[in-house]
This record gives sequence, C-alpha cells and structure tokens, in this order.
Amino acid sequence: MVDPGMTTNTDCIFCKIVAGEIPANVVLDTPGALAFLDVAPLAPGHTLLVPRSHHKQISDLSPDAMAEVTRHLPELARAVTTAVGAEGTNVLQNNGSVAGQVVNHVHFHIIPRFDKDGLGFRWSAGTYATGEADALIAKIKEQLA
Ligand code: 5GP
Ligand code: ZN
Repeated sequence: MVDPGMTTNTDCIFCKIVAGEIPANVVLDTPGALAFLDVAPLAPGHTLLVPRSHHKQISDLSPDAMAEVTRHLPELARAVTTAVGAEGTNVLQNNGSVAGQVVNHVHFHIIPRFDKDGLGFRWSAGTYATGEADALIAKIKEQLA
C-alpha cells in the first residue's frame, strides 16, 4: 500500500534515491518502501530500509506507514544475514541529531555482525532511584492516553 500522505523533499538524499534521481544499490523495491546498501557500510551488507514517503522521524509516521516499512525487516534481516554469512544483526534507527541521525528521512539500518568484528557499542546502563520509575511510567502513560 502506498502511504496516502506521500511526501517528497527535494533537498533529501533518500528522496532522490527513492525517485531514482541518484543511484543506489537497491535490494528491495515495493510501493511503500525501498532498501539499498549503505554507501559507507559498517560491515559488508549494511542495508538501509526507508519508507518511500519523506518523514523525518518515526514520530512523524502514521501507524500504517510504519507498518508498511517495518513489515520488510524480518525478510531483509534474514536475507542480509544469510547473504554475508553473518552471525547476528543490529537493527538501528536514529531519531534526531543528538541520537546520531544525519539523514533526515526515516531509515532503519540492518547491520550484519560477526564475532570480533570490533564494532561494539557503548551501553552505559543506569538504575532508577526509589519512586523514579513510578513517576516516569505515570508521565509516559499520560502522554499515551
Ligand atoms: P544516520 O546517521 O542518519 O542514521 O545514517 C545515515 C546513513 O546513510 C549513513 O550510514 C550513511 O553512510 C548513509 N548514506 C548517506 N548518504 C547516502 C547515499 O547517498 N547513499 C547511500 N546508499 N547511503 C547514504
Ligand atoms: Zn526524504
């Protein structure tokens, strides 16, 4: 299904790829989504999955538009993993420059992982003070209501 709110942004590199205006190594092409190799891969097979429609962040997508894109993640993860003989994958999705987003068109990274590939990532886990989690869930539920 094509996103009924389909938009494009003439300054967006991924919109240009979607429109075929600049080349990309496309691996999956559907009415709602496109997947292509990242031009600067963290590992061979590093793939980007994008909605055809221009939306900056996941919070800008309708549930249907999100479903139309993410429905391809299982098959893509399987295909990429098998194709490059990876032992695992990271699926990464950055929102906002503070989170590492450079291209402002929603995209999912499918990054093949190998033993001792040296990629790693910093996961500085914290803890909640007494009552902090209760206060937080109340605030989040208020936003969800
Ligand atoms: P972000 O940091 O926004 O989550 O990731 C953007 C990704 O897009 C980067 O991994 C970068 O290498 C990739 N990228 C940027 N420009 C192009 C391009 O023109 N073609 C392709 N295939 N990938 C791109
Ligand atoms: Zn775009």
